[in-house]
Amino acid sequence: MTAPDVDRPLAIQSDVPLAPLCTLGVGGAARHYVVTRDATHAASAVAWARERSLPLFLLGGGSNVVISDEGHPGLVVHLDLRGVSAVEEGGTVVVTAASGEEWDPLVAHCVARGWAGIECLSGIPGRVGATPIQNVGAYGQDVAETVERVDCIDLTTGAAVSLAGAECGFAYRDSRFKRADTGRFLITSVSFRLRPGGSPAVRYAELERTLRESGLAAPGLTDVRDTVIALRRRKSMVIERGDENRRSVGSFFMNPTLAADDAERVRAQVEARDAATMPAFPAGPDRVKLSAAWLIERAGLTRGHGEGAVGLSTRHTLAIVNRGGATARQVVEFARMVRDRVHDRFRVALRPEPVFVNLDFEGGPS
Ligand SMILES: Cc1cc2nc3c(=O)[nH]c(=O)nc-3n(C[C@H](O)[C@H](O)[C@H](O)COP(=O)(O)OP(=O)(O)OC[C@H]3O[C@@H](n4cnc5c(N)ncnc54)[C@H](O)[C@@H]3O)c2cc1C
Repeated sequence: MTAPDVDRPLAIQSDVPLAPLCTLGVGGAARHYVVTRDATHAASAVAWARERSLPLFLLGGGSNVVISDEGHPGLVVHLDLRGVSAVEEGGTVVVTAASGEEWDPLVAHCVARGWAGIECLSGIPGRVGATPIQNVGAYGQDVAETVERVDCIDLTTGAAVSLAGAECGFAYRDSRFKRADTGRFLITSVSFRLRPGGSPAVRYAELERTLRESGLAAPGLTDVRDTVIALRRRKSMVIERGDENRRSVGSFFMNPTLAADDAERVRAQVEARDAATMPAFPAGPDRVKLSAAWLIERAGLTRGHGEGAVGLSTRHTLAIVNRGGATARQVVEFARMVRDRVHDRFRVALRPEPVFVNLDFEGGPS
């Protein structure tokens, strides 16, 4: 591990509230907190925590985390590394962005230059460094399709390592960073291989239909970006001041993948009209992915459900919203209620999408 840079104070602060740094707006304080703007400084901060045997948490834009009301007992490293560069390579362009760059402005930058590959991921909050963690995806596209390289610091050795996209273990909202290698890598930058002049990906039925209804027979990247943002806005899936649903982590649960027989069992449990329109997508041999939002609604929980400070978004059943003044405990209890209602009704286990900090979602009492 790199030794702390004595010439450059680490500027570690104490007892810093984390709720304002997260889109859900819940959680206590970080016992220690530091903002890092380059890889050397980040490595020094990590070494500082290691020397004191303190637990470490890496924070990006805070849009996919639920932080406990007790906060974090160690060091929270807020990654604010900046810089974007692009290199043309044999008809493609490799765009490298530092992990602290905001994601959506990067998408806008690439779309404006006519570089195809991430246009459907418009409007997603958060920073570049987190995109490989859960293989960020939306509207038929995910970053696994374009990630060329992820540059990291391996926190077990302190060494700088470069992982090819194929080494990241990407799957649906999943990667090695979220499973076997949780907490092992501090991502310093991500490189995406994009297609200059390429066509946009129009694979998602709702996106395709909306573009067609707008009279856009051959939509360009900007059309797709604008349409995706408009669709997301209708569901409160872009964060906007004044929106009553703005405090969330986006989708709280992943879409469950079931054996085909189990999916048919779910279909047999609902009204004929619902059975005929049940969203079901092939997900490998004999496997089917169902819609978590659809299951939640069929379990009797509709948009806006919930009294008090926590409830379902009024525009999307998959988002759990802090309506103001909620605690992490209230959010988690509400989410467990949703999970349990779906399980009681359909015997389908919903898995949460966000990362729980100093909290055990699955293990706790329901
Ligand atoms: C309104 C809304 C809509 C959303 N829509 C979508 C969507 O359509 N599709 C989708 O996939 N997600 C969506 N999300 C979830 C979220 O925006 C993404 O997961 C995003 O990539 C998280 O980025 P972040 O910088 O906020 O990460 P954070 O929430 O800060 O961190 C998330 C995880 O990544 C880790 N991490 C962050 N940065 C680094 C780094 N540099 N190195 C190592 N680990 C790191 C953290 O430790 C944590 O475990 C949505 C969220 C909201 C609030």
